[in-house]
Amino acid sequence: MKIRGVVLEQTGGPLTPAELELADPGPEEVLVRLGASGVCHSDWNAVDGTAETPCPAVLGHEGGGVVEAVGAGVSRVAVGDHVALSWTPSCGTCEECLRDLPWHCSTAWPAMATGGLMDGTTRLTLGGEPVYHYSFLSTFAEACVVPERSCVRIEADVPFEIAGLVGCGVSTGIGAVWRTARVRPGDRVAIVGCGGVGLSALLAAKAVGAEPIVAVDAAASKLEFARELGADRVVLAGPNPEETAEAVRVESGGGVDYAIEATGRPEAMQTAFLSTRQRGAAVLIGIPRADAVLELPALTIPRMERRVLGSIYGSTWPERDFAKTFELYRSGRLPLDKLITHRLPLDGVERAFELMRAGEAVRVVLDLGGPA
Ligand SMILES: [Zn+2]
Ligand SMILES: [Zn+2]
Repeated sequence: MKIRGVVLEQTGGPLTPAELELADPGPEEVLVRLGASGVCHSDWNAVDGTAETPCPAVLGHEGGGVVEAVGAGVSRVAVGDHVALSWTPSCGTCEECLRDLPWHCSTAWPAMATGGLMDGTTRLTLGGEPVYHYSFLSTFAEACVVPERSCVRIEADVPFEIAGLVGCGVSTGIGAVWRTARVRPGDRVAIVGCGGVGLSALLAAKAVGAEPIVAVDAAASKLEFARELGADRVVLAGPNPEETAEAVRVESGGGVDYAIEATGRPEAMQTAFLSTRQRGAAVLIGIPRADAVLELPALTIPRMERRVLGSIYGSTWPERDFAKTFELYRSGRLPLDKLITHRLPLDGVERAFELMRAGEAVRVVLDLGGPA
């Protein structure tokens, strides 16, 4: 079938709207008509080369839509089901899956690097030439063919844009708080970096009763927004991580139990680490450059029992966690729609990245029209 999509021709750009050919879903694959896609920093990392992806490619890895066709052997979803897409389609049988770490699936991660689906081949072509998928999903398009295991069935009243955000950025933030760190009521939490992921973490910390929550960012406008979402204190980050961390320690009453870092910059990671109290943990979510090195004051690790916790995808198990997230959204305890500051059409991808990089947007979603 013919679909409209936005193609990244090569690392560095440009992003070009095009009419592509999308093949039928193969065995254990699903064709999804997309209603919305989030625009995520990881997409930008693919554009600017921070995390290179095979090109030409259709980016986008936060989607919600309706199942339009299924390939042979598909049993989890049926035509007409509403789905949230997950870019970690765990196999269920590898060593990591068997020890309940499906987001580290050792079948899916190597397949993802090929730019194909699970079998390493692509369902997208442009003028007869293959176009690569991105993180199995490629949601900057009207429709996509994805692995069955990327589909999580959702209730039909969940907005597609919320489904999309929960498929990556939101789960990355809230999972870091609930799953990786296991923040408890009364724990002191700092959020270092108040973009869409950091603010998702803030909402999760608020929902679980963390107190106080200290928001940290280099932009005053981001801190203002963090306050609106429930931050108790704010710290304007300066160039010196030690000084910023000292301000966090003062504002939190002596250091935080968990400092959630969501920028991927080593200085922000240092700020997070230095903000912690005894037995505190820096929870590192942001994706740094591949050659980045983090320097930490080693003595404080044994003496204060400080810890560093890595968190990918918020340690999220989509089949287990998405439905609960949508429940908390529905009940108003997780006001995820507040994170959406801009809605654009498919052709607005470039504009979305501009807004994101200028710090004007928290979360931009593409309205893809989708199923009637
Ligand atoms: Zn993402
Ligand atoms: Zn696996």
